[in-house]
Amino acid sequence: LSSLLPIPLSVYFAFFHDYFSTNYVATGLGFGVGIFAVSYLFFRGSNNQRFKTSLLLLMLVDSTTLWIFVLSSLAFCVALVQQYWSAAEPTIALVSRFALFSSLGLSAILVGVFRRRSIERTYATIRNNSVILGPEVTDAGASYASRGKVIFQNLLNRASFTKRVTFALLTTNEVRLPSSLAFDSRKLKMVGIQRKVESILDDDEIESVLAHELGHIANRDSLQKTIATGYRIAFPFDPIARLIEAAVYRNREISADEYSTKLTSKPASLASALLKIYENVQLQIPKQLATIGPPSSQLSVLREKGGISESISSSWRLRVRKLLSKQPTLEDRIERLLSRA
Ligand SMILES: [Zn+2]
Repeated sequence: LSSLLPIPLSVYFAFFHDYFSTNYVATGLGFGVGIFAVSYLFFRGSNNQRFKTSLLLLMLVDSTTLWIFVLSSLAFCVALVQQYWSAAEPTIALVSRFALFSSLGLSAILVGVFRRRSIERTYATIRNNSVILGPEVTDAGASYASRGKVIFQNLLNRASFTKRVTFALLTTNEVRLPSSLAFDSRKLKMVGIQRKVESILDDDEIESVLAHELGHIANRDSLQKTIATGYRIAFPFDPIARLIEAAVYRNREISADEYSTKLTSKPASLASALLKIYENVQLQIPKQLATIGPPSSQLSVLREKGGISESISSSWRLRVRKLLSKQPTLEDRIERLLSRA
């Protein structure tokens, strides 16, 4: 008979309260928050970029899992409130199990779907704007002489890189494309450079830029960036996801610079390449649609809103912008590179 009566609101709140103060649920949540705090402390204390990225991703997955867990717990509580009324404890146990499975399952699905979509989109953009001069794809390639391709082949041989990596010369001045890029999917790994950029750089500079892009593939950055972006999109209300995404991207850039330096021993060439690209390519692109810094497989694009004026940008505003930026500043990268030269 009780199922015919509307359930008073107070029962819902009693259920929420009971549920979240149940020992194992509260302990689980506390554990999640604890992992976040400890990861953050290690992150602050470490200088190893790879380790730092792993910690960032751990923090991201942790905070996301907590969110899904809390939200799905609330949803399951509402759905099962009738059962709670008749048998409180077993229902709490049931809700916690449901919530746990949905938070683990949803996280995995989210990343998988998002990664597939972003790989397809990126590949189409590259395909439409470049001549792929790889070993497999020979189509229009023969008529393009590319210094980049020769340099890249030598680089690959020296790196004793085990995976096949194709070279692409980006032939159109498509502003959405970065000056150089790395593409990494299970089927195809590819490093590309814009023809215009190839023409303004000397051989050592081209080598160091291509080595940077190769570093993105060697370090499996595209997967890490996709995870970070996937979570940010899935949880737009979580400011932590936004901050962590940007930090992962910045971190991967620095790591790829380090990879390039190790492989070529020419950090000064990479620094001068960055400056040349900035002066000759990025400054020429209209402000609203400038690619920021050398690129990633995500082809990141900065759309600056008109009128963010200097007058209101105080130092804390700059700091916030820096925290939210997916690219390390040019000064920061060059300073790091020259300290290794
Ligand atoms: Zn990069």
